[in-house]
Amino acid sequence: MRQNGRKIVIIGGGIAGLCTAVYALKCGYQVEVLEMHEMAGGLAMSWRRGAYTFETCLHWLVGSKPGGEFHTQWQDVFDIDKLTFINPEEFVRIQTETGDSLSIRTNVDELEAELLRRAPQDAVAIRDFTRSVRTLGKFKMLDPSGGLGDNWLNILRDLPIFPLLGKLSKISGAQYANRFSDPLLKSFFSNGDIGKMAAIAMVLSLAWMNEANAGYCIGGSQAIIRLIEDKIASLGGTIRFKARVERILVEHDAAVGVQLAGGETIMADWVISAADGHATIFDLLDGKYVDDTTRRLYEEKQLFASYLQVSLGVGLDLSDQPPMLTRVLQAPLTVDPGTELEHVGFRIFHFDPTFAPPGRTAVTSLLPTRNFSYWTELRKNNPAEYRAEKLRIANAVIGVLDRCIPGVRAAIETVDVSTPATVIRYTGNWKGTMEGWLVQAGDSFKPLPGTLPGLSRFRMVGQWVMPGGGLPSGPMTARPAVKAICKHDRVPFNLSAAVANKPEPVVV
Ligand SMILES: Cc1cc2nc3c(=O)[nH]c(=O)nc-3n(C[C@H](O)[C@H](O)[C@H](O)COP(=O)(O)OP(=O)(O)OC[C@H]3O[C@@H](n4cnc5c(N)ncnc54)[C@H](O)[C@@H]3O)c2cc1C
Repeated sequence: MRQNGRKIVIIGGGIAGLCTAVYALKCGYQVEVLEMHEMAGGLAMSWRRGAYTFETCLHWLVGSKPGGEFHTQWQDVFDIDKLTFINPEEFVRIQTETGDSLSIRTNVDELEAELLRRAPQDAVAIRDFTRSVRTLGKFKMLDPSGGLGDNWLNILRDLPIFPLLGKLSKISGAQYANRFSDPLLKSFFSNGDIGKMAAIAMVLSLAWMNEANAGYCIGGSQAIIRLIEDKIASLGGTIRFKARVERILVEHDAAVGVQLAGGETIMADWVISAADGHATIFDLLDGKYVDDTTRRLYEEKQLFASYLQVSLGVGLDLSDQPPMLTRVLQAPLTVDPGTELEHVGFRIFHFDPTFAPPGRTAVTSLLPTRNFSYWTELRKNNPAEYRAEKLRIANAVIGVLDRCIPGVRAAIETVDVSTPATVIRYTGNWKGTMEGWLVQAGDSFKPLPGTLPGLSRFRMVGQWVMPGGGLPSGPMTARPAVKAICKHDRVPFNLSAAVANKPEPVVV
């Protein structure tokens, strides 16, 4: 048993907190994860209603392919090869109310053929786009915990791609969309937050899909979370549920532990927050360790939107439908004051047999909004109106789905609506954001500092440290945080030498 006698408490049992726990356990630390909810996952969540399971998070996991980019990083933290991944041939189908439709294929050759057939007038822009998808398939991610010495080979391999990366990072999805005249192709790149993000985000995602390295795993995001929990248990770590941290305890500008709601204190050699960034800095630490740069960041930077999710249990086999369907509306759908949607998207989970009994299908629709306070205030001040609003939204969304798949309304057995108030209640994420910092044109994907000025024995990990968020932001921020702690404590950061910390069974 290789234990180093030091303890780390981790606030938050989302993907980042769990990955941090695995790295720390492998380096011999005693680890306790404190999660306020009754289960792990945070935003990586699904829930059961009657016969159906409704997924909120997983569309794709970068690193799903054995031997593919980022796969070994996942192998560091859990047995990813126990998962069954599927790689749908169609990413999304965009449909108008008048019967026009565009299929975005995941295979780049098929995608190119489909786009050229549909919009020959955009041939130059289409070929440039698909060339970018092919080129970015060669992109090697850099290890944020490594220096030049660890990354030189990948930097060398990426050198020919840098100009393209730079170009696509400097323009937004909406600007990229202007290269095309076809209205549906335009809308693919400019719809919602995709239009606000740097174009590189969508082009790179398609590149990973083309490489079959951004698959969906059967069981959704919770299948991943459960395997990481298993890994933590096998290494002797603990996760405490219903353990909300109210304060980070500080002595002489060093974090020394945490205080839970209810008053219990837990002391530790290091505190790592994998919880919401704003709450960590301004509530748990009372805003005492913040410089102008950090304050400006939280005041000025744009976040990914929050969202409502309408989840429907449909008593029909919908396997003739695409996995994702976006309907371009003739009249916008009003979500809340200030939020009108011109597109409504559906995920039709016929590809995941664990989400519904045979012959039935779980369907979800995500409605982005930045007016989170409308929903939190309504829930607090007028629960009856809150319920009525949820019903209104559900009816509107069912109406759209029924126009896409005539007759589906009559087969709906289960309806569930979550709102930004739900996201905030269950994950604590500031403004109910779905992924933290939105990477806009010209922004950097470089991680933010995981430390706070003037505070020692403390680190932050997760989507609030890695702009753009996503599940990979878990291991990507966990690894450098634990590596830095090991360096400080003069403990080897040697993952392969890890020995299970699990107590030996007592032989009687
Ligand atoms: C709709 C949607 C779709 C997405 N699709 C994808 C996708 O296809 N692929 C992908 O890679 N990513 C996707 N993401 C993004 C991904 O889910 C997130 O970026 C990632 O899960 C964030 O992980 P995290 O651990 O940093 O934060 P979180 O998941 O927010 O975890 C934080 C945890 O801390 C806990 N916590 C907060 N405060 C406290 C406290 N005071 N005390 C104790 N515990 C606390 C919370 O309960 C939570 O469990 C999606 C997200 C959403 C919402």
